[in-house]
This record gives sequence, C-alpha cells and structure tokens, in this order.
Amino acid sequence: MTFYEQTPAARPTTILEPPISRPSDGPEASQTPIPIHNKSSSTDSAPSSNDAPPTTTTTSPKPFPLPTLRLEVRHLTHPASNLFFTSINPATVLADCLQNVLRLLYHTPQSHHFNPPPTRSVTLILRDMDGVAYTTGTDLDHDHKEIHFNLNHISNTASRSPSSNPTRVRDEIIGVITHELVHCYQWDAKHSCPGGLIEGIADWVRLNCDLSPPHWKKEVDGAWDRGYQHTAYFLQYLEDIFGPGTIRRLNEKLRHHKYHKDSFWEEQFGLGVEELYDGYVQHHEEEERKKKSC
Ligand SMILES: [Zn+2]
Repeated sequence: MTFYEQTPAARPTTILEPPISRPSDGPEASQTPIPIHNKSSSTDSAPSSNDAPPTTTTTSPKPFPLPTLRLEVRHLTHPASNLFFTSINPATVLADCLQNVLRLLYHTPQSHHFNPPPTRSVTLILRDMDGVAYTTGTDLDHDHKEIHFNLNHISNTASRSPSSNPTRVRDEIIGVITHELVHCYQWDAKHSCPGGLIEGIADWVRLNCDLSPPHWKKEVDGAWDRGYQHTAYFLQYLEDIFGPGTIRRLNEKLRHHKYHKDSFWEEQFGLGVEELYDGYVQHHEEEERKKKSC
C-alpha cells in the first residue's frame, strides 16, 4: 500500500519543458501565503522593521499547529548575538519560518498530506562553533530538535555584506533557520534517504521562501545528488514540469519506505533520476543558449 498521491506518471520522451518560463538563475518566490521576506519593501526598511507583521493582502490560510519553540544564546557577549537580535525578532520569525516550511512540505493542516514527523519542540541554539548550522535530536528524545547556529557565520556574513544589500544578514539568518527547520520536519525514508536529497529538499524550501543567498546559481556540471542548492534547482525543475506539490509528494514518499534509487523515481515520475537529470541539464543549456542569442 502506498500513501502518497497516485499522480499518473508522466513519460516525456524529449526535453521536458516547464509550463511557465522562469529566470534561469533561480526560481521565483513561491506562493507561500505568509511571506517571510518582502523584497519590494525590505530594501528601504530599517532592521527594526522586521517586527512588522506580514503585509500580505491575501486571505491567510489556517496556520499549522506549532511545537514548543525555544531560543538559547550560549554566548551572549559574542558580537553576533547583538547582530542577531537587531536583525530579526526571533519571537515571530521562528514561527513564521516554520509556517512556511510546513506549508511547502505539507500544504495545509487539513491536507491528507499533513503527516509530519512527531517533532515536539525546536530549540534554536546560538553558539560559537565551526561550520554554519546543523540540526540534531536531543540525547533523551529524538522528537525534541536542536538547531545549532554558528554565531561566527553571522559575523562573517555581516563583514562580507555590501552596503547595497542592507538586509543580507537578516536574509541569511532567516534562510539558515528555514533550511534547518526543514530538517526538523522532513521525512528521510527511515534514515535511508541520500544526504544529497535531504539537503536538496531543505534548500528547495529555502529557495521557495525567496531566501536564496546571492552566491547561489544553477550549476549542472555535477551529479543530481550534489545536494544543497544544486539539488534544489533540480527539484524546482521537477516541480515546474510535474506540477505544484511534486516535491511535497516526494517528501511523503520518503515517509513510509526505505529509499531504493530505481523504484523511488520510477514510481513517482515514470523515469529514472538520471533521465530526469539529463532533461534538467538539457533544459538549462537550452535556456543559456536562448539568453546568449538575445
Ligand atoms: Zn542541511
């Protein structure tokens, strides 16, 4: 028995073309009803304006139930601690980010796709460490998640940010939090899902929250499971080709079964992942040719 939506498998034989055109250097912002980031207004806003509620005029859908959200600052005197609090209001941003993550992974609280992992709490821990961030379960109970976020990464982002991009630090903080929150709520095929797909889904959500950092760009010279933004752009191509909800259904498929490369992609799309990726590469190259000829 399968629990994911039985979408008729598409069997394209030529280069797959998305039904809508998109800028080749990144997909548009998604239709997420609670936009975390509003570029049209944020560039001329002071950081303190982050506390303002979302300015969407559309009817907000019913919010998802949230777990207990906590914040722990392990190094309060670190310069980035102050930067963190002057860039975002964690009391609202964490909840807003999680609403967006859940909407992209599960659509609505009423959806039959809304079968998330039993995460009961998420603690964001700001500390002085290596790397950017990681998510883990607590020692006592894996359903309690901890997101460890390196304060030095926030400082480094600030020191590298051009004055022409005053919201860069804020965007990076929210982007990293969004990515890590996906890890708190995505399925992983009973721990058998390739890391590249896990990271690709996390960055696909970040991409669709309009939080991609400036250095992200489509690069098709690696394998499909290179991970992070590389796999995220490939996943966005699949979402364009096979329709909205495609990546949501992939996440649902990772809920019940162990990952087997051949059956996983064949059952969902009627094609193997290498064929799908070939189509993505060809589509990207065609877009690049069109850009050059303009
Ligand atoms: Zn990650």
